[in-house]
Amino acid sequence: MDTPLTPPVDPAAAPLGDLPGCGPRTLEKLAARGVLTLQDLWLHLPLRYEDRTRVVPIRALAGGPAQVEGRITAVESGFRFRPQLKVAVEDESGATLLLRFFHFHRTQVASFGIGRRIRVYGEARFGAHGPEIVHPSYRLLDEADPGVLSGALDPVYPAIEGIGAASVARLVAEAMRRLPPGEALELLPAAWRTRLGLPTLCEALALAHRPPAGTDLAALAEGRHPALQRLVFEELLAHHISLRRQRIAMKREGARAIASGGELAARLRAALPFSLTSAQERVFAACRHDLAQASPMLRLVQGDVGSGKTVVAALAALLAVEAGRQVALMAPTELLAEQHLANFAAWLEPLGVRVVWLAGKLGTRARTQALAAIADGSAQVVIGTHALMQEHVAFHDLALAIVDEQHRFGVHQRLALRDKGADGRCVPHQLVMTATPIPRTLAMTAYADLDVSVIDELPPGRTPVQTVAVSAERRAEVVERIRGACSDGRQAYWVCTLIEDSAEVEAQAAQSTFDQLMAQLPGLRIGLVHGRLKAAQKQETMRAFKAREFDVLVATTVIEVGVDVPNASLMLIENAERLGLAQLHQLRGRVGRGAAASTCVLLYQPPLSAMARERIEAMRASNDGFVIAEKDLALRGPGELLGARQTGLAGFRIADLARDAALLPAVRDCADVLLAEDPARADRLVARWVGGAARYAGA
Ligand code: ADP
Ligand code: MG
Repeated sequence: MDTPLTPPVDPAAAPLGDLPGCGPRTLEKLAARGVLTLQDLWLHLPLRYEDRTRVVPIRALAGGPAQVEGRITAVESGFRFRPQLKVAVEDESGATLLLRFFHFHRTQVASFGIGRRIRVYGEARFGAHGPEIVHPSYRLLDEADPGVLSGALDPVYPAIEGIGAASVARLVAEAMRRLPPGEALELLPAAWRTRLGLPTLCEALALAHRPPAGTDLAALAEGRHPALQRLVFEELLAHHISLRRQRIAMKREGARAIASGGELAARLRAALPFSLTSAQERVFAACRHDLAQASPMLRLVQGDVGSGKTVVAALAALLAVEAGRQVALMAPTELLAEQHLANFAAWLEPLGVRVVWLAGKLGTRARTQALAAIADGSAQVVIGTHALMQEHVAFHDLALAIVDEQHRFGVHQRLALRDKGADGRCVPHQLVMTATPIPRTLAMTAYADLDVSVIDELPPGRTPVQTVAVSAERRAEVVERIRGACSDGRQAYWVCTLIEDSAEVEAQAAQSTFDQLMAQLPGLRIGLVHGRLKAAQKQETMRAFKAREFDVLVATTVIEVGVDVPNASLMLIENAERLGLAQLHQLRGRVGRGAAASTCVLLYQPPLSAMARERIEAMRASNDGFVIAEKDLALRGPGELLGARQTGLAGFRIADLARDAALLPAVRDCADVLLAEDPARADRLVARWVGGAARYAGA
């Protein structure tokens, strides 16, 4: 027989094959749900618990799940409308409970002898004749089974497809029986357990699966219980360490230091019609410092919409160009990439820098030329969409990869761009920009592999956008308001939101709104832009709007990110109740970019759901992206907040970032200590919790 190459390091990783009752078919079904090892069963935590540790007097029943014990006083089975079996049970409290069964067997009816003791568990409700339970679980008691009460609550597990609930419970119980004793599994240093008041992993698991009678179930359900906090802490710690490890690995890869004098950047600054805000200065200085190192810059620049991230990116790009090397800027939509192209061309070409465009829709000749210029290095700055990541795009010497609105991309896409510049020993520097402000605690976990800097100041002279919510019944007034604003020389956006998840349907909605407004606002010049138009058409419409050749731009949410027309001061969002907070805030960020006072009108379709009402209220209450993000986190949880990025975090089994964010500072401190003092233990933690996600994230 072959001996295994590596003995199992962690008893938790033992496969399930030798659990009793775990045949090949069961194994297969478990595997389909990602349950492969003992540990996977240990972490298959109950959804809720059933309390059979005590018996409640019938008179004291208050509705809700309860266990009751008494004698059968009457049995009646009838078939009037449908088969029904009714069993009356009376206990010492003198009250009667009615049990109803709609599915039953004749032998079952026979077993309910008058005067027998019965113990039932189920959801008690109050019917016309007092308390009743439909389809309780029950046990008939006698001398042979006096019904000793359990000392622990019964777990109810999440279903595993194809395996019955009872089998899942039995499998988990078998797995728990194999939990190694004492500290064998423990990876969290004792000092940290004491400091945070957390139990050992074994204790935590034992409690989570079989909480003793009297356990605070609300604390368990809400994740506040120390046993759950223990599991959550370890999971967050493992994820955090895995991101930090990636960062360490990337930093180790090495990059070529860019130590140009900054002459081109200085020339751009001199040519700009404004001076940088101090936040922009600070972030640019950080980039400059990073670029001068021989390890790759891994910097995330967070800044609210309109905070001026683009110019910082352009200045950083010039440092690389001056060093004779190439820069790539990738944006998630063609519209946004085009706008960057326009800005970069206007800023850099006067300095003699060649800016090249590469997107999906490009004629064959133009594309061949672009590819050639990218390959021979004559394209100093390359701007485009996902097309930049395609295989046949070969850079001559990519020094800096800039990714805008990174939440639209996954980690792997950002890394794919990085790989374009990898030459075996060195990788390009990376600058990531996002207007999705995420709360600090969350940033620490989600972006533990990046250095985060924040542009926390808007350029001077901006007046805050005033936000109002208006019912769609008052649409006509809103249209009038647009007429008024436009005759004062202002410009307006009218945004149509997605009705179905289809660009086609969305485009139609925008088209009909456009037709309507054309009819209602004769004399105003109205443009239309949506995702189904050709790139050149979109570009032309945007240019015309920017050049004030249109008063109103009817658009789909394609204009959500990045579009910059400072003279536009009125934003109207139709069916605002359909959009999430982050998206509403992004759209609102399209106005308030000039000196004129701006307004954002949220046109909604009544009645509003409670959630939609809260979102609209939050929009009215604040213009600050970070405040909005906190609110968004509270309303939706972190999943959607982080967008594609979340895929790297989606693997949480137990933790919930919205709920558990308070643990994150301790998670980070503990990771610092482990990485410095016990890296082997840190690795075991990652292997235990993040196996799959780490493979993904390393892609
Ligand atoms: P975002 O951070 O949302 O990408 P942009 O980079 O598009 O913001 O900048 C928004 C607008 O503000 C642009 O018109 C830009 O030229 C302008 N801008 C950027 N920095 C400054 C500044 N320091 N002073 C005045 N205007 C600025
Ligand atoms: Mg931008």
